[in-house]
Amino acid sequence: MTQSKKLPRVICIGAGPAGLTAAYRLSAEGADVTVLERDPELIGGISRTETYKGFRFDVGGHRFFSRSKEIENLWEEILGDQLLTRQRKSRIFYHHKLFDYPLRPLNALAGLGIFESVRCMLSYFKAKVFPNRDPQTFEDWVTNQFGHRLFSIFFESYTEKVWGLKCKEISADWAAQRIKGLSLGTAVWQALAPSGLRKKGGSPKSLIESFRYPRLGPGQMWEAAAEKVEQRGGKVIMGMSVDSLSRDIETGEWTVSAVDPEGARHDFVADDVISSAAISELVECIEPKPPEAIMTAGRMLRYRDFVTVAIIVKDVDCFDDNWIYIHDPEVKVGRIQNFKSWSPHLVPDPDLNCLGLEYFCFKGDGLWDSKDEDLIRLADEELIQLGLVTPGHVIDGTVIRQPRAYPVYDENYEERVALFRSWLDKNRPGLHLVGRNGMHKYNNQDHAMMTALLAAENIIAGEQLWDIWRVNEDAEYHEIGEDRTLAFSERQVPRQVPDQPDP
Ligand SMILES: Cc1cc2nc3c(=O)[nH]c(=O)nc-3n(C[C@H](O)[C@H](O)[C@H](O)COP(=O)(O)OP(=O)(O)OC[C@H]3O[C@@H](n4cnc5c(N)ncnc54)[C@H](O)[C@@H]3O)c2cc1C
Repeated sequence: MTQSKKLPRVICIGAGPAGLTAAYRLSAEGADVTVLERDPELIGGISRTETYKGFRFDVGGHRFFSRSKEIENLWEEILGDQLLTRQRKSRIFYHHKLFDYPLRPLNALAGLGIFESVRCMLSYFKAKVFPNRDPQTFEDWVTNQFGHRLFSIFFESYTEKVWGLKCKEISADWAAQRIKGLSLGTAVWQALAPSGLRKKGGSPKSLIESFRYPRLGPGQMWEAAAEKVEQRGGKVIMGMSVDSLSRDIETGEWTVSAVDPEGARHDFVADDVISSAAISELVECIEPKPPEAIMTAGRMLRYRDFVTVAIIVKDVDCFDDNWIYIHDPEVKVGRIQNFKSWSPHLVPDPDLNCLGLEYFCFKGDGLWDSKDEDLIRLADEELIQLGLVTPGHVIDGTVIRQPRAYPVYDENYEERVALFRSWLDKNRPGLHLVGRNGMHKYNNQDHAMMTALLAAENIIAGEQLWDIWRVNEDAEYHEIGEDRTLAFSERQVPRQVPDQPDP
C-alpha cells in the first residue's frame, strides 16, 4: 500500500509577488501555508496599488511582462479578463521637448535643432577619431558610442538621478549590457538604410512594445492571488511583522515570531520558511544570532529608496505616454508616470488625471526626509518649470515613500550575499530566500515569482530540484526551454567602478 507523502507546513514572509506566488503554488498542492505580511492593509509589496481619494496608482508603474510563458500563464490564471494589454509609450523629456525612446537619430537631431545637432555630430566624430581605448566607466563607454555631447544630453542626468552615482563612478560593463549593439553610426544606419539591409547594422536590444497591466493596478493581481490562496485553505495574515526566527536542531522545526500593530506577539510553527524580507532585515531576526561576520555581511547590504509624489491635475493637454524620463538636470524629478495611460480605470473622474513624479533617493537624505507638503509643492513647481502642467491645474497630491526600492550592487555585495547564503545552507536548512530584496537581486516581478515557484517546488519535492540563484543570472537572455533556472535577462543594475578615477 502506498503511503501519501506528508505535505510540509510552510510560512512565507511577505505578501509581495514572491511570497504570494510561493503560497499559490504550495496551496495548489494542499500544503499548509501561511503568509505573514507586515503591512496592515496593502497586499503586493512594491507591486501594490495605493489609493488616494479614489485615485489608484502604483510604486513606479508596473509592467507585467515576462519572457517566461509559465509566468504569463500564471498571471492569466490569477486575473483572467481583468488583465489589460497596453501599448508601451515612453519618451525622453529634455528642454521642453519629447524625444523618442529608444532614441532615433533623426528624431533626436530634429528635436535638438541645427546648432545643437552640429555640436553633437562634431562631438561624435571626435569620439570616433579619438576614442577612449580602455573605457572603464559608463561615461567613457557611452561617449565612445555617441560622443560626449549626446551622452550629456541623453544619458548623464537621468542615470545619475536614478543611481545617485556620477557616471564616472559607474562601471562600463553595465552600459555595454544595457545599450548593447547601439552606436550613433548603427542607429543612423538603422534609420536610413533600406529595410532589407537594416539587420546588417546590428540591432540594439529591443524594447517591448506592449505589456499587460491589471485594470485596477498591480495590487489587483496580488489581492486576487491572496484570495485564491485562502480559497485553497492557506492563510494570508496582514499586519504581522516577523522579527524572530529560530530552528529546533533536534526536530528541524521552525518557530516564526511576529508582532501585530498593537504590539501583541504571535508564534507560528513550520517545517520550511520562505523569506522575501530584505536580507539586511532577515539577518537581525535569526535566533540564536549568526556569527558577527555574517551579521555584518547582511547589515552592510545597501538599497536605493524611492519617493512617488502623486499629483492630481486637470486633464488638459497631458502627454499620453505611460511615463516620461526627465533628463533636465535643473529638476530633481527623474521620471513621471501618467497613470491614466496605464489604465483609465485608475482615475475616478474623466476630467482629471494622476501623475506620479518619481524621486530616487537614499533614506535619510533631504528628499526622503522632506515633509509631504514640501514634496507636493516641489512636484507642483517642477511640473510647471518643465512646462508639463499649466499653473493652477494641480488640484491635490499625496506622497508615498518606498524604502529599499532597489538593491544596490556595490563592490562588495556579491561577497556579502554569498557569505550569508553559505552560512544559511550549512546552519539553517529549510530557510529559503526568494524575490528581490529577499535575494538582494534586481529581480522584476517575473523573476521574483520564478524564484518563489522554484523554492515551492523544492519544498514539495523534499530536495533541491532547482538552483534558485540561477534565475535572472548576470547573463545573456536565455529562452526558458527545459531549464527554468536559466530564465532570462541581462543585469540591469550598475556596478561601481572599483578604483574610482579622480574627478
Ligand atoms: C520603481 C519601481 C518600478 C518597478 N517596475 C516594475 C515593472 O514595471 N515590472 C516588474 O515586473 N517589476 C517592477 N518592479 C519590481 C517589482 O516591484 C519587484 O520585482 C517585486 O515587487 C518583488 O517582489 P517581492 O515579493 O520579492 O518583494 P516585495 O514586493 O518587496 O515584497 C516583500 C513583502 O514582504 C513584506 N515584508 C518584508 N519584511 C517583512 C517582515 N519582517 N515581516 C513581514 N513582512 C515583511 C513587505 O512588506 C512586502 O510586502 C519595480 C520596482 C520599483 C521599485
